Amino acid sequence: MSAARTSKMTEKEKQILCVGLVCLDIINVVDKFPVEDSDTRCLSQRWQRGGNASNTCTVLSMLGASCGFMGSLAPGHVSDFIYDDIRRYGIDVTNVIVHAESSLPASIVISNISNGLRTILHTNRNASEQVAMIQQVEQYNATVPAKHRITTSVEIEKTREELYQLFGHGDVVFVSKDVAGHFGFNSASEAVKGLYNRVKPGAYLICAWAEKGADAMGPDGVFHSDAFPPEKLVDTLGAGDTFIAAILFSLCNGKSIQESLTFGCQIAGRKCGFQGYDGIVQ
Ligand code: ADP
Repeated sequence: MSAARTSKMTEKEKQILCVGLVCLDIINVVDKFPVEDSDTRCLSQRWQRGGNASNTCTVLSMLGASCGFMGSLAPGHVSDFIYDDIRRYGIDVTNVIVHAESSLPASIVISNISNGLRTILHTNRNASEQVAMIQQVEQYNATVPAKHRITTSVEIEKTREELYQLFGHGDVVFVSKDVAGHFGFNSASEAVKGLYNRVKPGAYLICAWAEKGADAMGPDGVFHSDAFPPEKLVDTLGAGDTFIAAILFSLCNGKSIQESLTFGCQIAGRKCGFQGYDGIVQ
């Protein structure tokens, strides 16, 4: 979930707040997917800060947006690594909460450089409070003039029934190819048309479809951008988070939905050409 905070701030200070997961990604780079019960040496192995909201913050800050992360950390040296990395990117940490009793979730990632595909094993993800949080924003918005309202966006990425109520709660709603497939849609265009009746009036629904690019639907029609594949596909981990960051950045800068969709695919495509995020801004 992200929210453009305009309250008590001038237009210049407007911040994008990303609410959600931060975790540790342990990334194992291979040139061939391992066979079960084999013993494989990786080409390289690294720790990287992960989690959708946290990745989106990374890309937003690299694009030059003022952004903050709101989420939970646990005590300990893994969290210290994560916290230092968030701060290294200049991301506002005012809303990061450390929970003494918990441990930080980690994902094991196998990143295959031969085809750019990533295979993820993760744990410990929780989304149950999201609607309540957005309702607080909605209540706040009802008390302030239009220009001070907070714009919200949500991502429905996993195929879990409880997440589907989020469709009705964002000004910009991102739905993943996985969820679209779960609803029986075979393309981004089918998905945005078929799921648009679930979003609130005036909202945009956006669906990315890997190498096929992405589609959006809003009150002003249906939009499409082709993908912008890199010369060599190296690492698609976080392509979706990068796509979201670039779209939010573009919309916050007053660009149209078509321009933003194209920009999202350009930046996400560029990201797929190298490991991590540090080459996004050239
Ligand atoms: P994720 O699986 O990380 O959620 P998606 O597959 O939905 O990401 O892709 C998000 C965006 O990233 C796509 O709309 C596209 O612009 C870009 N992208 C992802 N995979 C590729 C690819 N193989 N080639 C070119 N662009 C890609």
